[in-house]
Amino acid sequence: MTILLATDFDVQALGLWRSLLQAALPEEHIVTERHTLVAADADVAIVANPPPGTLQGLTQLRLIQSLWAGVDRLLADASVPPTVPIARMVDPSMSATMSETALWAVLSLHRGFQTYAAQQRVKVWQPLPQRRADEVAIAILGLGELGRCVARCLGAQGYRVSGWSLRPAALPSITTHHGDDALTGVLGAADIVINLLPLTPHTRGLFCARRLDAMRPGASLVNLARGGHVVDADLLAALDSGHLHHAVLDVFNAEPLPAEHRYWQHPKVTVLPHAAAQTDPRSAAEIAAANVRRLRAGEALQNLVDRARGY
Ligand code: NAP
Repeated sequence: MTILLATDFDVQALGLWRSLLQAALPEEHIVTERHTLVAADADVAIVANPPPGTLQGLTQLRLIQSLWAGVDRLLADASVPPTVPIARMVDPSMSATMSETALWAVLSLHRGFQTYAAQQRVKVWQPLPQRRADEVAIAILGLGELGRCVARCLGAQGYRVSGWSLRPAALPSITTHHGDDALTGVLGAADIVINLLPLTPHTRGLFCARRLDAMRPGASLVNLARGGHVVDADLLAALDSGHLHHAVLDVFNAEPLPAEHRYWQHPKVTVLPHAAAQTDPRSAAEIAAANVRRLRAGEALQNLVDRARGY
């Protein structure tokens, strides 16, 4: 059968993915041009932000394998066949990369390295008071594949780590909380809040004025998940008022971040270009291919998305 590889990649990236997938799946016919497909041809779609409507009419689909960990855009496409299983990317190398970004952000905030960079620009020589890692409370929202890895990494560095998830979770040396009722307490107890939630109808706009107010005065936000989690005007107000110390933002409501957006120039905002943990084609192509092999062998698919939960 045929696999449709449907992405928004440029020609070079598409060529790389195609050759890696073809090497991992030599028996399969991989097509990258939707219009060349007869509707009944493809029974697998391997996707990364395909233009909305791309999967419409593919009546034989049995698996939609996302190359991205987050599937919010895919689930927002009403033309995606409603009963076809969707698998998302779960890759230990992505979790490790995300942990590096989270550790860098936490170290920068804890040790004041953003402040030192700002001081250097105006030639100020001013050491800051120094705290131990175990005096810094970190809250991780989302204890999934990425959040758990980040929690372990920060715990190993000596930080005081707590986590928040939808359902109860148990993690060694991490204080865990779950459910909406616990969120205010989790936010209020942290010096640094790291967002690693999926974007769902339930989590969209989570960082609104009320939730930001619930954060500790002088706390910082690290958003490594999705821009839609943050109400930008409310975050800017919390930074401008002095309630929050700093925001490290990797993801935005509009990407690329528009040139006129206040975040670019804001002294209390660090902007990253959605680069916290990119999918690595070398490992991810093999992970996607393994799920296709499972489908062909009649075995259980891995990393399936629960469409009702939205992640
Ligand atoms: P995951 O394994 O699906 O984990 C999601 C976590 O969020 C789970 O712990 C889940 O709780 C929790 N959660 C979901 N809805 C919740 C709610 N309403 N209240 C409380 N907790 C809730 O996801 P992941 O692989 O860790 O990835 C997380 C997100 O990171 C992705 O969806 C994507 O948007 C983002 N991401 C960003 C980048 C980047 O470069 N910036 C890269 C990759 C991924 P349960 O454990 O109870 O289910």
